[in-house]
Amino acid sequence: MTEKLFYKDSHLAEFTASVESCEKEEKYYKVVLNRTAFFSEGGGQSADTGTLDGVRVFDVQEKDGILYHMTEKPLEQGKTVTGKIDWEERFSKMQQHSGEHIVSGLIHRKYGYNNVGFHLGQDTVTMDFDGVLTKEQLREIELLANGAVVKNLDIQVDYPTKEELHTIEYRSKIEIEGQIRIVTIDGYDVCACCAPHVKKTGEIGLIKLTNVQNYKGGVRITMLCGFRALADYNEKEASVRKVSVLMSAKENEIDEAVEQLKEEKAQLKNEIALLQDKLLRSKASRIEPGQETVCLFDSELSGNAPRELVNLLLEKDVKICGVFFGNDSEGYRYVVGSRSVDTRPIAKSLNETFSGRGGGKPEMVQGSLKGMESEIYQFFACSVLGK
Ligand SMILES: [Zn+2]
Repeated sequence: MTEKLFYKDSHLAEFTASVESCEKEEKYYKVVLNRTAFFSEGGGQSADTGTLDGVRVFDVQEKDGILYHMTEKPLEQGKTVTGKIDWEERFSKMQQHSGEHIVSGLIHRKYGYNNVGFHLGQDTVTMDFDGVLTKEQLREIELLANGAVVKNLDIQVDYPTKEELHTIEYRSKIEIEGQIRIVTIDGYDVCACCAPHVKKTGEIGLIKLTNVQNYKGGVRITMLCGFRALADYNEKEASVRKVSVLMSAKENEIDEAVEQLKEEKAQLKNEIALLQDKLLRSKASRIEPGQETVCLFDSELSGNAPRELVNLLLEKDVKICGVFFGNDSEGYRYVVGSRSVDTRPIAKSLNETFSGRGGGKPEMVQGSLKGMESEIYQFFACSVLGK
């Protein structure tokens, strides 16, 4: 069994130990020490990382009480090595985990819901509960949880006997073989847990619940504690500041400014639609009605304007109408319409000749092609008249 130093002192960042074994796996090494401060992966929390005599430890797994340190290089058996934990990361995880106990404890006490899923990753912490909570209820939990931080309570760890355990009300009652470890935050939570925690709640810092979504009949809550919450605040602050400058609005009034901008945008869209309609009607009015074919090149058109122009021209009894928009270097998009002739063969021969693509219904085809305006114009006129 590996001696677990993190249970004696959760703030131990550096330690010495002797190498009991080192086995080569496919692309890494599995190192067993007589004792360690590295916490292994488990219970939703990722493993500690760090170094052993400067050799990178990228994962730690526990099996039958033995902790296996996955390293990038081998370590000599019997040698005394110095282990260093990536402390910032580990301390952050303790902040998140202790924060999670407070929040889960509060939700359990207030609403009777159980934490049924916990994930403590590099960037995010999520907790799943088997009951639904509103945003308002979570706001209240958040406030109470931060109250626990301010009180700077001790986080106690106890190893009760089986008899004592029967007398304790605690969360996370799963049948565990051997000694059960009880983590208590007085007035907030009592929970069976094997992870290292901060010593006092004040170390957690800010507890911020950033998101809640419905999940499997309950809710999934996303949380940030301590430095992670600060980093999130900084990121959001920068974003709000940028928007505030762009909108020339006070930081706490940017929502109104954005709403107004959206309204103005909708109005402009309406105005553009009216102007486009006017423009298309003016373009159409310059075309002689009743012509056999019309072939127009227009670089001003975009969106659905070409289709609308084709329809306007067909209303003027033009038999076959083709509208091309784009330019010689980048190519053209086209719309061809008719009320009396199947336009699909026209698209087919255009595509074949000008390496284009597209098609549609007998009364209208659309596509894109590459070629020179003069050549496309000539080909279109000939192929249409040849029908
Ligand atoms: Zn826990």
